[in-house]
Amino acid sequence: MPDLDAPPRVLHGIGVGPGLAAGPVARMASPPALPDPRPVLPDQPAPTDLPVSDPDRELADAVRALEATEADLRARADAATGEARDILSAQAMIAADPTLREGVAERVRSGDDAPHALRSTFDRHREILAALGGYLGERAADLDDIAHRAIAAALGRPMPGLPAPGHPFVLIADDLAPADTVGLDPETVLALVTERGGPTSHTAILARALGLPAVVGCAGILDVPDGTLVTVDGTSGRVGAGVGEEEAADVRARAADERSRLAAGRGPGRTADGHPVDLMVNIGSAADLRGADLDGVTGVGLFRTEFLFLDRRDAPGLDEQVTAYAEVFSHFPEGTVVVRTLDAGADKPLPFLGLPEEPNPALGVRGLRVARDRPGILDTQLAAIARAAERTTADVWVMAPMVSTPPEAADFVARARAFGLRTAGVMVEVPAAALRAERLVEVADFLSVGTNDLSQYTLAADRQSGALADLLDPWQPALLQLIATCADAGRRSGRSVGVCGEAAADPALAPVLVGLGVTKLSMSPRSVPAVRARLAAYERAECEELARRALDAADAAAARAAVLTAGP
Ligand code: PEP
Ligand code: MG
Repeated sequence: MPDLDAPPRVLHGIGVGPGLAAGPVARMASPPALPDPRPVLPDQPAPTDLPVSDPDRELADAVRALEATEADLRARADAATGEARDILSAQAMIAADPTLREGVAERVRSGDDAPHALRSTFDRHREILAALGGYLGERAADLDDIAHRAIAAALGRPMPGLPAPGHPFVLIADDLAPADTVGLDPETVLALVTERGGPTSHTAILARALGLPAVVGCAGILDVPDGTLVTVDGTSGRVGAGVGEEEAADVRARAADERSRLAAGRGPGRTADGHPVDLMVNIGSAADLRGADLDGVTGVGLFRTEFLFLDRRDAPGLDEQVTAYAEVFSHFPEGTVVVRTLDAGADKPLPFLGLPEEPNPALGVRGLRVARDRPGILDTQLAAIARAAERTTADVWVMAPMVSTPPEAADFVARARAFGLRTAGVMVEVPAAALRAERLVEVADFLSVGTNDLSQYTLAADRQSGALADLLDPWQPALLQLIATCADAGRRSGRSVGVCGEAAADPALAPVLVGLGVTKLSMSPRSVPAVRARLAAYERAECEELARRALDAADAAAARAAVLTAGP
């Protein structure tokens, strides 16, 4: 039980998902570390947290752990819907499989304690599945998840993965990877707070995709006991831990007011004096559009195609890709869809590519660079996009990730055109590309600034690093200056220059980006209302003045302060 008499504490992190929330915390438990096996010296006392050396008891413990795992997975399956329900039911059946129990019994007979017998039995089954390849091979990773749960149960630790306290909660974690959050239900999770992670981390992207208030890089959050009532301000990054019911109710009421204020704003993006700004959405698949309010949205500014390639042993075939792309296009018969070709490597590892290990993957073979040795993957993808484009009235654009030089851009554009794709552009994620934007727009039809990577490479700060979150802040004047270079090149050439990184989802930054000359802002669907509302509050000349203030500032915090103190 949390200590309800402990005084409230204020923790600070970086707000990455605007909005307010209040509720009890529940943590994402990490996979349990396996303790050393029982001591080998007969005269050495057994550590107290290890089971005694009694095979019958070890076996009973292991069986109990498997039963608890099965029950937990079944309960989760019952509470889930659709694909998540099927996956969880299948996992529950695996946990109940008699061959698994026989394997565990054999390991116990040969001297293992319960946790080690579970580990080695699951490892053995994993090897067998992996060797089969294909669909069954892909299921090998599912066994790891079940194994972690069973071992945690045998050790008396909390089961790893998403908690299921049975009521809405604020999810706290060290950091969140995409796989950790499969099945995360935005109806039950009120907000996300992580100890690590920066403004461009996957936690931030996920929070915006789900429309959840979120704070990352929040030191001390993991010391807050489960069940403690907290308030979360995803704009300022402030987390109040151990607050009372009254304060929580006040925060909930303010959150509801803010939601209805934003919902009242409709229509396309424009400044107070009517200067149009394309508001577009970032998606990974058609599923991200389910339930999205697309009022005033002109299309998809970033379709991240790598989600189709995740967790696979082989690349998806042409037909499968055509179907997936056509499904997305069908949502925008009168809009534009910008498809980004595969961005593999570094923070998006795709095992099927079998890329060699590199000491510094973020600076290695990733994004468009993969096509140097493997042009077939890009060509198949361009062929599939072109074929899907023939089936739709949507205006289909393609763009390449991680372009560094004008010849790379020219090569990509020529390839795209060879497949009949009329509008081909590039992402600006590397400082070299931003500095040479003037040359890029001579060969590319448009530029889209990926601020997540551009800030990582400009400030030399790993985008996953919570410790360097201040450097990764999209308000860094150096980053804004590179965006201005791109926008100037766009203005002079008449090419469109958009921003599709997380910076575009920050309502306070939106007028600054427009003031720099950006014409399109692409963000998670749920971020659109707040960005639209903020843009509508300024005239274009005021946006330009805000941009000047931000560019003049010494660092990100000063830039933010200079803009926020200017009103409205
Ligand atoms: C970016 O880098 O800003 C971007 C939009 O791409 P991703 O986050 O997918 O790397
Ligand atoms: Mg990127």
